[in-house]
Amino acid sequence: MVIYGDYHTHTIYSSGKHKRKHATGTILENAMYAKQKGLSEIAITDHGFSHKLYGLQRKNIKKMLSEIEDAKIKTGINILLGIEANIISSEGDVDLTDEDIKQFDLIIVGFHSFAKAKSIKEWFKFFLPNLLGFKRKKDYQRNTLALLKAMDKYPIDIISHPGVNMPIYFDKVASHAKKTGTLLEINGKRIAYKAKDIEDIKKIDAKFVISSDAHSAKKVGSINKPVNFAIKNSISYEQIANMGKKIYFKSQIQQKELES
Ligand SMILES: [Zn+2]
Ligand SMILES: [Zn+2]
Repeated sequence: MVIYGDYHTHTIYSSGKHKRKHATGTILENAMYAKQKGLSEIAITDHGFSHKLYGLQRKNIKKMLSEIEDAKIKTGINILLGIEANIISSEGDVDLTDEDIKQFDLIIVGFHSFAKAKSIKEWFKFFLPNLLGFKRKKDYQRNTLALLKAMDKYPIDIISHPGVNMPIYFDKVASHAKKTGTLLEINGKRIAYKAKDIEDIKKIDAKFVISSDAHSAKKVGSINKPVNFAIKNSISYEQIANMGKKIYFKSQIQQKELES
């Protein structure tokens, strides 16, 4: 199985204000490894702005865009600029402004325990139970509703590592994802789906995307784990959006419509 593009990779820009780098690859290095692995496209999707330890800084975006242009020429790989934004409240708020959204080719949203909650109240209500690993009915309900609301409020292309550190009802999330054209990720490192969830998602016919979630350049395009997971659960090629084919994300489709 060969993916056309790896749409979830991190670079040194996922480093917040800290000296210690959370991810080690530069944009050019990520693209070079992508080329070596036979990919045609990658997305640079560093952590969202409110991540306390590793969030991207807005002031770096201009520099990233010029590095992307340079790396495209040097490698021949198409490079998209995205972000792995954070869900920061039980109301589905995400750490992106309308202005932010316009700058990205794709929007990934995930739950990260160390993002900054929208308010202290939301930290207690939404973050704390997930940090403590609670899996009560009300935790499933709250988390599921948060994702549904986020999909309604923002043009989310991909939900990263769904269900990891945040128990959810996969069938409800998948039904909504199908409606909003949001892809469910099969992540290169962390997978929370059970066999039953996959059966439900297949019936609903929501689509998956396989990605590495690379935090070093050499891991770009490393997808053994999600590919094996897909094979084991008999997920068809057709159900994986980037299997052998390019994905057109929401902002790109919108752009195309504006041009025509
Ligand atoms: Zn993540
Ligand atoms: Zn990530």
